[in-house]
Amino acid sequence: MYRKTRVLVTGGAGFLGSHLCERLLKEGYEVICLDNCFTGSKQNILHLHNDPNFEFLRHDITFPLYLEVDQIYNLACPASPIHYQFDPVQTTKTSVHGAINMLGLAKRVRAKIMQASTSEVYGDPEMHPQQESYWGNVNPIGMRSCYDEGKRCAETLFFDYKRQHNLRIKVARIFNTYGPRMHPNDGRVVSNFIVQALKNEPITVYGDGSQTRSFCYVDDLVEGFYRLMNVTDDAFSGPVNLGNPGEFTILQLANLVIEYTNSKSEIIYKPLPENDPRKRRPDITLAKEVLGWQPYTKLEQGLLKTITYFDKYLTQEEAAAQ
Ligand code: NAD
Ligand code: UDP
Ligand code: UDP
Repeated sequence: MYRKTRVLVTGGAGFLGSHLCERLLKEGYEVICLDNCFTGSKQNILHLHNDPNFEFLRHDITFPLYLEVDQIYNLACPASPIHYQFDPVQTTKTSVHGAINMLGLAKRVRAKIMQASTSEVYGDPEMHPQQESYWGNVNPIGMRSCYDEGKRCAETLFFDYKRQHNLRIKVARIFNTYGPRMHPNDGRVVSNFIVQALKNEPITVYGDGSQTRSFCYVDDLVEGFYRLMNVTDDAFSGPVNLGNPGEFTILQLANLVIEYTNSKSEIIYKPLPENDPRKRRPDITLAKEVLGWQPYTKLEQGLLKTITYFDKYLTQEEAAAQ
């Protein structure tokens, strides 16, 4: 009997996961969105509930899960430093036990599985821009290690399940991504600056603001996920960098946000967090070659869309408080 391709998205009620679920439904898949709602929220997927191809499942991936699916996108994991440092042991468990469970599930049902890995596997990089062949410069015992080392171990597990069990795996190394539905209080730089600017509160630049990041708009990233999962050469597993190679200092970003929001905010300087990478920019040659992928959204365009989202969000929040 014909049945639609059934896709499991773990972390589906989060920022990236909710956009991915939306995209997969548009492509005609059946989508099971799994989340324990630690940092994600049902609000992010409320608009999808009327779609008969959509299903929400509250579950924690550190526990086993028995389902019949064809593809798995494994996104479950808190992604911002304040959230992943809130309960660091649980963060490592989510990456490691979670990966084992999702790989075990993929192995049993012979599903294709993609891991949302991160540029953090490169740590504070000594190679710039970062290519996939670079092994990274990561502190194993610092405040960021629960996330960085958890994600590194998850990559190891993915490749061992491929070698040992012939699993069809894909690993995406995601660089800083932003857009609507970022958590307004998760401390990430784009959401922090926009919310501060819209409230005309001081913009908090950590350190002297000379550290760099490369910012990818969410729609571009989701396109990359989709192409990676469906790449013609099924033997291709990556890891592959997905991100926007445009590189900006944090101070530049602060000034752009002030300009685009027409804000009266001033910039204030706060201490740089421990092990904060000095610079980060993806080399996306591999993604271009193998996936025919590159981001198209300019920072200005993406920031304006994100500002519109947060403006509406804050207005609604204000109205609800009255
Ligand atoms: P997010 O916090 O919005 O989404 C993560 C989701 O996972 C949340 O909905 C959360 O509730 C859920 N979750 C956490 N632990 C779970 C568990 N044990 N079981 C089930 N669900 C759980 O963050 P995001 O930005 O959407 O990130 C999604 C994925 O992409 C993460 O794996 C993250 O590490 C990775 N990533 C994101 C970025 C970025 O810039 N956004 C960069 C690199 C990597
Ligand atoms: N697992 C799961 N769902 C499944 C199959 C397995 O959650 O459909 C979990 C199970 O808890 C197991 C883990 O995935 O511990 C790894 O499975 P695998 O088959 O690789 O190893 P084993 O069962 O031998 O530990
Ligand atoms: N940052 C900042 N002010 C903030 C939040 C973050 O200056 O209010 C800096 C942070 O120190 C880092 C960069 O912005 O250098 C990106 O931080 P984020 O937490 O968004 O991502 P990551 O460090 O994981 O790349």
